Amino acid sequence: MPYQHLIQTFLLPELKFSHSYKSGIANFTVVAIKRSKFEVCPKCATPSTKVHDKRTITLKDAPIRGKYMTLKVTKRRFRCPSCKSVFTEPIQGVNKGGRLTQRFVRSIYWACENFQDLKRVKKAHRCGYKTIYKSYYKQLRLKQKERQNNPWPKTIGIDEHGFSKDKRRGARNFATLIVDYQNKRPKELIQGKSHQKLIEGLSYIPGRENVTHVVIDLADSYKTFVQKFFPNAKIVADKFHVLRLITPTLNSNRIAVTGDKRTHKMRKLLLRNRGNLHFEDRIELDHWLKKNPDVFDAYWAKEKLHTVYRCRGLGKARRSLNALIKWLETKKLKPLQRLKNTLKKWAEEILRYFSTRITNARTEAFNNNSKLVQKRAYGFKSFANYRLKVLNAYG
Ligand SMILES: [Zn+2]
Repeated sequence: MPYQHLIQTFLLPELKFSHSYKSGIANFTVVAIKRSKFEVCPKCATPSTKVHDKRTITLKDAPIRGKYMTLKVTKRRFRCPSCKSVFTEPIQGVNKGGRLTQRFVRSIYWACENFQDLKRVKKAHRCGYKTIYKSYYKQLRLKQKERQNNPWPKTIGIDEHGFSKDKRRGARNFATLIVDYQNKRPKELIQGKSHQKLIEGLSYIPGRENVTHVVIDLADSYKTFVQKFFPNAKIVADKFHVLRLITPTLNSNRIAVTGDKRTHKMRKLLLRNRGNLHFEDRIELDHWLKKNPDVFDAYWAKEKLHTVYRCRGLGKARRSLNALIKWLETKKLKPLQRLKNTLKKWAEEILRYFSTRITNARTEAFNNNSKLVQKRAYGFKSFANYRLKVLNAYG
């Protein structure tokens, strides 16, 4: 009968179709047996042909065309002629003692990746949330294991993001994301941002000496960590973090004058790139700035920073940065003094951008993605699962 042949092709490789029946509206049960001349004893590897007894097990198999499939397999138990122990024959595609076939587990994984929510996964597989979670994270762990021994790449980015709220302390927990630039994927996710946590979480990865460039934001803690951990790495200060250094000051100085109105016209004009401003807007802005010297200084610090990054070539950028530092030295405003100190301290790392052109834009994108992952799962309770999900978000 062609129907039997059809089911036979869907069956696990070693099983032989016996018969099937409808066991629910969308459920059918297939009865099958394993046919082999002998089985090998797991203890002493002696082949045995002596069947001791039989037992039937029930397995969940991957749904076929929206139909739930239950497998009833009669397994034989053999007695070993040499060591006299009794053992049950294994079935390819089912883990020992398992009640789910491996392809059922893979089907759950696929559904978790592609369905909108777990409710749909549950409906499509007719199993509990616990089974879904267990199967899904098991698959993620296996995938992560395959990549575990990949060595460090040449260029990496390091960035932090908030992970969850610590209810007792009322503070945010941080996670540090390490991004592999060449392969365009997250390399590792660490809970916390302290040196100790980073060393603990990254020591297993071989080939630290491979890393030649590390992009970071302007954080002293990451700088000293990179210098200690990667012997051949040069640090590149992230362009976007440098450009944003003065923005909070610019905003607060403006708010001191105009109040916290987000619709105030000057707010937009101040933040926009001067080169993109309309001629009349520029005149209006300059007129307004003349009356507000504190905003004036912060505004020009921002514009001069942008000028540095518009430079072509390391030499020009260096001259431009030095000119900016000199200009800042004449200013008394505290935030501008702080900016000057930061630029001086990080000058080499900032200028390295002009010889490498690497930015952390990619890390930031991954960070945003991590937040999305969190939102989709309504906040993870377990960091281990969150890590697996982020690291596998790119296939
Ligand atoms: Zn044996």
